[in-house]
Amino acid sequence: MQLNTETLALINGGQALVLALMLWFGTSNGSNQAVKGLRLRAGALLLEAGGDFLLAFGTQLSPLLVVLFGNTLNLTAQALTIVALRMVLNRRLRWREAIALGAAAWIGVTYLSIGHPDYTLRVLWGSSILVCNSLLNIAALWGGCGKRDTRAQCLLLWTYWLAIALLVWRNMSLLMLSTPLQSILAPSYVNVIYLFLVGLQPLLASVGFLLLYNEILQRELFDLARIDPLTGVINRLGLVEASAVMLAKARLKKESIGVLLIDADHFKSINDRFGHDDGDRVLLELVANIRRMLRASDLVGRVGGEEFLVLSPSVKEADLLALAERIRSAIERAPFRIANESYSLTVSIGAALADTDELDMMAVRRRADAALYEAKHAGRNCVRISSGS
Ligand code: GH3
Ligand code: MG
Ligand code: MG
Repeated sequence: MQLNTETLALINGGQALVLALMLWFGTSNGSNQAVKGLRLRAGALLLEAGGDFLLAFGTQLSPLLVVLFGNTLNLTAQALTIVALRMVLNRRLRWREAIALGAAAWIGVTYLSIGHPDYTLRVLWGSSILVCNSLLNIAALWGGCGKRDTRAQCLLLWTYWLAIALLVWRNMSLLMLSTPLQSILAPSYVNVIYLFLVGLQPLLASVGFLLLYNEILQRELFDLARIDPLTGVINRLGLVEASAVMLAKARLKKESIGVLLIDADHFKSINDRFGHDDGDRVLLELVANIRRMLRASDLVGRVGGEEFLVLSPSVKEADLLALAERIRSAIERAPFRIANESYSLTVSIGAALADTDELDMMAVRRRADAALYEAKHAGRNCVRISSGS
């Protein structure tokens, strides 16, 4: 089968055009940063298609026009892709670096086409900039490998490494040819293989972008289901999952886990006096106060309106009581300022210990609940611990 470079460029352009349309129309619902990134990538594909078509019909145009105009389209597409990827990943956009690289590439290519025509040097210069572009994309994607929930990120990262490998191979091959080529359209196995593989890149990168977007959405959904939107701590579902993991680890290490159920005293009166919005602010500060008292391995979650659960691994009864007392007194000592008034909030805490042979966190939680009930009945602003399992 005969495949000439113009035919390949035509196929590449057609493919980039279809991908651009699919990406554009497939992402019309939504206006967040990631969707904007995908649409910017669609715009970049459109420019890439333009560059490919110019190459495909290049023999009918002036070679200088093809080089200058084609490079303008391709370099702009590259710069847009750098920014689009960062939009999807929610990283710093780096418009300045992307534009500076594109401009440097264009000036160099123009000089090596008109001022001092040298095809090999032009390819070398253009390739170096493309390597820099790919490195900027790799920097944005870096750290994605090794984790199960960032596989698409890793996949895309590898496509950019492969793009660099392709550029290195092409340049080495060009330099080793006995008669130097004068154009990308010159019939040569290096040009055919290069154009074929370069033509696959829009497809690979676009599938990668979509997989990446899907992965980000999955992670957002996962967090949305487990994180309390008001306070930012994990919710009931997050606590159930985290406590199961903590319990399994504690059983292996033969250690116990402390559980604290913390409930704000007379919280309803705050809402009645200051309104629900100020009540929300107090809840946020309450969580911040609790967090300040915890170790890195401890976990706090919201189990209900003004009720929070703390899981504290590797503690004995005395440590757990001391932690509960620290939290109680810290909150008592830090009055809240609401509408220029000072309001002293207190909490009641029920504590329970999950022993090494404990199988069910719900049973421990029930014991902590009973202890909390005792604390409320003892007059509030105090700590009670469940007497046993
Ligand atoms: P107790 O000392 O017996 O715990 O009294 P309390 O008023 O704290 O208890 P109760 O369970 O009667 O009321 C809890 C209040 O917490 C009722 C509800 O208005 C308030 N609350 C629950 N969730 C939220 C929330 O997300 N924001 C605000 N501002 N208030 C909330
Ligand atoms: Mg309460
Ligand atoms: Mg309550």
